[in-house]
Amino acid sequence: MDNNVREDFRQVPANYGPLRNADGNARRTGPCGDTVEFWLSGENERVEKASFTSDGCENSLRAASTVAYMVEGMPLDDANALGENDVLSTLDDFPKESFHCVTLALDVLHTALEDMEIVRQRAKEREIKDDPNRSKQDNTRSGKRRTIMVMSGKGGVGKSTVAVNLALSLAAKGFKVGLVDVDIHGPSIPTMLNLPNVTVMNAADGIQPVILGDMYNLEVMSIGFLLHHSDDPVVWRGPLKNSLIEQFLNDVAWGPLDYLIIDCPPGTGDEPLSVAQQLKEKAEAILVTTPQDVATVDVSRSINFCRQMSMPVVGLVENMSGFVCPHCHKTTDIFRTGGGKKLSGKYDVPFLGSIPIDPSFGISGDAGLPYVQRFVDSPVADIYRAIATKLEITRRTKV
Ligand code: ADP
Repeated sequence: MDNNVREDFRQVPANYGPLRNADGNARRTGPCGDTVEFWLSGENERVEKASFTSDGCENSLRAASTVAYMVEGMPLDDANALGENDVLSTLDDFPKESFHCVTLALDVLHTALEDMEIVRQRAKEREIKDDPNRSKQDNTRSGKRRTIMVMSGKGGVGKSTVAVNLALSLAAKGFKVGLVDVDIHGPSIPTMLNLPNVTVMNAADGIQPVILGDMYNLEVMSIGFLLHHSDDPVVWRGPLKNSLIEQFLNDVAWGPLDYLIIDCPPGTGDEPLSVAQQLKEKAEAILVTTPQDVATVDVSRSINFCRQMSMPVVGLVENMSGFVCPHCHKTTDIFRTGGGKKLSGKYDVPFLGSIPIDPSFGISGDAGLPYVQRFVDSPVADIYRAIATKLEITRRTKV
């Protein structure tokens, strides 16, 4: 290894800055508050080029730059196996109190390598998909994508929870499912699926979704993947928001899908309007409500909104309907329930099901393991499966 490498760090190292046409990218903030980002390009199972940025101190720059130099030309397996001792043996007089800079740099490198692998897999899938001898849709069950907008009259009723768990229930039935959130001010899918530091790549055919193939049979895209930090306030104004939503909905390079589930921003304001205007009758809506909200104007407003947008409503889900006791697992109706069913009768839209309050939703949400995955044999997971089945057989209802 090159022991003179330290000389390169007096000023900005030569391998500092983003790499054009990178195949892998990752950014992470360490416990010390420094943020390090890596870009990698690869060919023939090797890292071809590596570069980095860091907003940290000189030692952070030294550590990250050394790691980037070391992996250039390295076989991918060796780069994945690169450890702290390998890096520290290259760094003369590296202060002990800054060893965490090496840990952070390696952590970001390994995440960038994972990202590179995902992009490579994706490219392979695309090669298969674009094979003219295969029908584009032949590996989906239905051969035709249904786009479902999950909407609610207001925030906090469990719309994102329904979107995620419904998408997973459909995927578990063998459907190819895409899940996307368009909630600029509160994207929750990265947290719910434990994808906190994912950054996505923009390839020639569009933004590459994250593929959770092995685990969930799901492709995921979130506005959160485009924000640098999940707690960044988003201050875009109307037109910029609209064009972001437009780009987002049109430019994601989904594979062949049976279902595209869209976690829509709550309410009937500018953002849901942008989404609905993009999709109109190409999409169907699922409305999520709680027993307390069925009597309010919010739900009627959502139904009228769909009517104005000529968007068919595929059905209504009543969430937080009754309470599942964590001890005896019995469901008790603590609020008046059944309002969702009445409302669906009033507006002549199908009723898809009632999901009780279960404190385990909070536990699974915090753990980043969605409810229907974590409690796969629970009665509530059965309800989700039943809703997925109803969705399968329920055709569009014009409201
Ligand atoms: P929205 O997308 O409508 O703002 P979320 O899906 O983020 O709502 O849910 C809000 C909170 O309610 C989350 O903490 C979620 O875990 C919780 N939650 C959702 N559905 C249920 C349920 N059936 N039982 C218990 N908690 C739930």
